[in-house]
Amino acid sequence: MLKSFFSLFLALCLSCLLCGSLFAAKRNTMTCDWCGKKIASDASFLRSEDKNFCNEKCFNQYVESLLPVCDVCGKRFKSGFTSEGKNFCSKSCLETTFRECVHCHRREPKGYLVGDDIFLCEYCRELPACASCMMPLDRFAKDLDDGRSLCRDCARDGIFTVSEMKSLMASLRQELADRFKMSTDHTIEYELCNRTELKKESAGDGEHELGLFIFNRHTLTFFSRTIHNRDEFRILVLNGQPPDIFRGVGAHELAHDWMQENLPHIDDPQIREGFAEFVSWAYAKAEKLDRVTWRIEQNTDQVYGDGFRKVRDMMGDARTASEWKKILLKACPVPSASGK
Ligand SMILES: [Zn+2]
Ligand SMILES: [Zn+2]
Ligand SMILES: [Zn+2]
Ligand SMILES: [Zn+2]
Ligand SMILES: [Zn+2]
Repeated sequence: MLKSFFSLFLALCLSCLLCGSLFAAKRNTMTCDWCGKKIASDASFLRSEDKNFCNEKCFNQYVESLLPVCDVCGKRFKSGFTSEGKNFCSKSCLETTFRECVHCHRREPKGYLVGDDIFLCEYCRELPACASCMMPLDRFAKDLDDGRSLCRDCARDGIFTVSEMKSLMASLRQELADRFKMSTDHTIEYELCNRTELKKESAGDGEHELGLFIFNRHTLTFFSRTIHNRDEFRILVLNGQPPDIFRGVGAHELAHDWMQENLPHIDDPQIREGFAEFVSWAYAKAEKLDRVTWRIEQNTDQVYGDGFRKVRDMMGDARTASEWKKILLKACPVPSASGK
């Protein structure tokens, strides 16, 4: 009886020992999949899928390593935003990628560019805008007698006196002569107008024009013979435009003036307006008048916008008026009936 109890105990003990050593051997080869430390045979450990962790800290760090990284602040996050393949931990990190509206200073995902760097949010774009620069009006807006309202900057910097206009036009005329060898010798009458006055002179509705070039040939007939009496060249510019926009408009009208003298036969409005826009654009680009170049480039109007792109493509690298003239003559030859 005693012997059998002993052998049972021994057998039990032996099997227990065997079992234990097998287990220990297995445990000795186990390492933590996060920190790389060996996991002791008697230590508790955590297991997730096919990975072992020596403690909760290692397990938590591993779980965190699977989370996406915020592309702005570099933090890992459990709930956040993804936009265009990028991760953002919070609304404020996401908002740093939005542009700041120049008017309300909020960062908004949607809006419009009013120049390469000028961003207006959707809301501000809908506000009543300055008639000269198209920026939203604020409480400093100035109302003009022709119904237009100007922003504070345009009201302050806008051209409102005839003497200012004349001196700007004179220097502009000289700049075009120097830069593009584009010049005419005749006298041009300059007039600074408000919207009502410009509308009266315009062939169109005059609602959106910023300037006008008007040519008149006053003729005298004498016994059924026509004697040229006097050619009249007039440039009208809408008042209240800040100097950069004014110069863009002035260059456009002076291009019409040059065309009237050099290529009067061209009557295709797309070429006429497209060329005037092209000269204004080339001048503004050289003078870094960014608001002017941007406005011309973005114009979707069929006559002005498409005309500009058409003429710009025609001109290629040509940068003088005599080269432009050759190109335009080739595209629009003088009709043979005119005798030339
Ligand atoms: Zn570990
Ligand atoms: Zn972040
Ligand atoms: Zn805004
Ligand atoms: Zn303005
Ligand atoms: Zn024009």
